[in-house]
Amino acid sequence: MEKMKKILNERKCLKIVCGAGNEDTKEVEKLAYVYSCAGFNMIDVCAKKDVIDAAKSGILKAGKENEIAICVSVGLCDDVHVSKTVINGQKCTSCGKCASICAQNAIYNEDEKYIVDERKCIGCLKCVQACDCGSIIVEHKYKQPYTMLLPLISEGIDCVEFHCASENEEMILEGWNKIKSIYNGILSICIDRSKMGDEKIISLLKQMIGDKDDIIIQADGNPMTGGIDDYKSTLQTVAFAELIKRNGLPVFVILSGGTNSKSSKLAKECSVNVEGVALGSYARKIVKDYIDSDDFWTNENIQKTAIQIAENLAQSIKTYL
Ligand code: SF4
Ligand code: SF4
Repeated sequence: MEKMKKILNERKCLKIVCGAGNEDTKEVEKLAYVYSCAGFNMIDVCAKKDVIDAAKSGILKAGKENEIAICVSVGLCDDVHVSKTVINGQKCTSCGKCASICAQNAIYNEDEKYIVDERKCIGCLKCVQACDCGSIIVEHKYKQPYTMLLPLISEGIDCVEFHCASENEEMILEGWNKIKSIYNGILSICIDRSKMGDEKIISLLKQMIGDKDDIIIQADGNPMTGGIDDYKSTLQTVAFAELIKRNGLPVFVILSGGTNSKSSKLAKECSVNVEGVALGSYARKIVKDYIDSDDFWTNENIQKTAIQIAENLAQSIKTYL
């Protein structure tokens, strides 16, 4: 709790997002290592013990166990962050478009059939958009947030993030209250405006915050779209952060969803003072070639190059926080 409070009070939260549905422990360990070395101070991982252990291992290898806070993500069934895709083999024409667009390398070909590797899929839905014949189904494969979280409370986690983009206000409040009943550390709400209007979302957030003064709102712009490094991609999250700040909610606000190296600069130029930036798709993409390398752990040059790229990103964000 103290580690998290320090990060937030300094208003310099730099979070690497591995993906709420990312169960690829090898990737998580490498991301944790590279971004810990690069000066990030928070890592967001899926609510599974082996994934948390992989993040801890990467942080330990970087020697940053006293600096990096671990945030565990859980989500409602309506929220895209905890969705997975499945290919309907009966309809699939084996064109391969989905496999070539998947940034997580989660779709592979076996015996001329395309299959989604569930552990790697983060629910970004890019494959669904790419498939011309509607052969890809979106599924929610996780248990309810409370059930996912319960066995992880004693794992030394620093923060729990609740992904709750849904139209169902009652379900959001029920899920939130259950999480609060078992976890008394720092809580983060990751929500976007795709399913609720501004007035409704502010009213909902006020109910969720109650009398607490240490809640994080991760103002999600366009979830999992941050592959491009331009202002347009990051505009929606800055606009949402501005709405939260304008309404005077007593929270820490972190940008996410479409974030890139320009996010904190854009927020500053728009006079929106945020407490940090969470980087997922973009941060993973810029180090991907190095992380995917089979000799990553034995090749110092590969590690150094990846860390240098991550450091440049950290620097461009910190300059404007
Ligand atoms: S494109 Fe996205 S949703 Fe589709 S398999 Fe890859 S990670 Fe999963
Ligand atoms: S894009 Fe659709 S049709 Fe093509 S391989 Fe993927 S699932 Fe099959």
